[in-house]
Amino acid sequence: KKTIVWFRQDLRVADNPALNEAAERGDVLPILIVDETDQDMALRGTARAVWLHHSLLALDKKLGGHLQVFAGDPEQILLAVAAENGADAVFWNRCYTPHRIIADKQIKQFLSERDLAARSFNGSLLWEPWQVLKKDKTPYKVFTPFYKKGCLSAQAPRATVAAPSDISFVGEASDQSMIDGLELLPRHDWAAKMMADWQPGEQGAREAWAQFADNGLMGYKNGRNFPAKANVSRLSPHLAFGEISPHQIWAALEHQPQNEDVAHFRSELAWREFSAYLLYHFPTLPFENFNSKFDQMPWQIDQTALEKWQRGQTGIPIVDAGMRELWQTGYMHNRVRMIVASFLTKNLGVDWREGAKWFEHCLVDADYANNRASWQWVAGSGADAAPYFRVFNPVLQAEKFDPLGAYIRTFVPEIAELPNKFLGKPFEAPAQVLADAGLELGIAYPHPIVDLKQSRNRALAAYQTMRGQD
Ligand code: FAD
Repeated sequence: KKTIVWFRQDLRVADNPALNEAAERGDVLPILIVDETDQDMALRGTARAVWLHHSLLALDKKLGGHLQVFAGDPEQILLAVAAENGADAVFWNRCYTPHRIIADKQIKQFLSERDLAARSFNGSLLWEPWQVLKKDKTPYKVFTPFYKKGCLSAQAPRATVAAPSDISFVGEASDQSMIDGLELLPRHDWAAKMMADWQPGEQGAREAWAQFADNGLMGYKNGRNFPAKANVSRLSPHLAFGEISPHQIWAALEHQPQNEDVAHFRSELAWREFSAYLLYHFPTLPFENFNSKFDQMPWQIDQTALEKWQRGQTGIPIVDAGMRELWQTGYMHNRVRMIVASFLTKNLGVDWREGAKWFEHCLVDADYANNRASWQWVAGSGADAAPYFRVFNPVLQAEKFDPLGAYIRTFVPEIAELPNKFLGKPFEAPAQVLADAGLELGIAYPHPIVDLKQSRNRALAAYQTMRGQD
């Protein structure tokens, strides 16, 4: 028997249930389709497209050069590939974004009407979203009970499965020109620098995990707040592309000392589950305020401010450092994601959807559920969100979480000579301090584009106006 294994967000051979089942059944035909009809998140021209290119090269190598890639409508492609190769079944691991759920249902139906067996498996979530419900069978909306009462008391996550020891492939191995043909890389190679510190693919994911387990996990609970510390795993793009599964990480955590760091790391993985869960149960989450009161929020339409934020030219160093880290590396530390998102939605008063779109363009780990749920969380409109009136003070945040300025100095080198005391607030530095640092504000580095105090007050007033509509 010949089975097509349709790779999507599971670009690995270990712990890949669809691949395993197919290999047990007989010959395997691994394929990937760049789906141009996917409405959830555009792929072309994004940092993710670059990552995907490299990840596909890595996967193809693991599959002995047998990966076939296509761009277009999955239904037609699956049908044609099955006919051409005499395959009688298509297996895949489930994706949970709204577009994919609808499309996959249709594809299953379409294939079964043409005598092709279609089966899907769980490759990317520890708990199926429909498995975790409150006693009254409605979905949780608050994280802690979701995790503690729902997930932890539900069935334990499935065991991991080893990579098939010997896969019998359909057809001859080909060269990698098929992957180049997808044209995922940009014409101007702006991405080389961005990719310098990353190793896409299963091996890279494994190494990132090993590095973190050895050097970052102990001390994670506290250290994860400091962007200059190596206490975060940087596993997010690997998880987003399924180069490692949460099951593999969950299982590996069993071999660690069971302390508060490990418990906290588990709970962060559970936040990933929560986002996917919310998106599954509330498919409008990516574009509609979860809390509909926010529909009355008078967002500002300030294109200039938005662009300055995107380019890391706001004059607020921790915000600019974060936005430049994003642009240069395709990643941003979680603490700083919260700071820049708070700054955009509250100090600049810009709609959270604008921020989410920019992140999806730039992040190598862009994940529809995590990104949209997190933006709503910071904006205050989300499920179990931070209260709107919690406006981060980016100066105090920098002083607390980047006290030696290592993070700011890396990404905003033009102010590196300032003493630590003024690094987070060059606009408060006396003229002599600026002169000693060789810094002319407004020339080498901008004045702040908003007054932090005034803009905070304006945000709180807008919030009161919105609440007044109750
Ligand atoms: P670690 O601290 O090492 O955490 C390990 C893993 O747990 C992460 O890889 C991630 O899968 C999960 N995780 C950790 N924190 C969160 C969280 N708050 N919510 C959900 N999952 C979490 N994460 C994405 O994966 N993709 C996104 O597009 C994304 N957009 C975000 C946008 C905003 C405005 C904010 C505030 C957060 C966003 N996050 C997103 C969540 C979080 O910032 C990243 O998951 C994390 O920074 C990734 O780095 P890491 O792998 O080193 O994290």
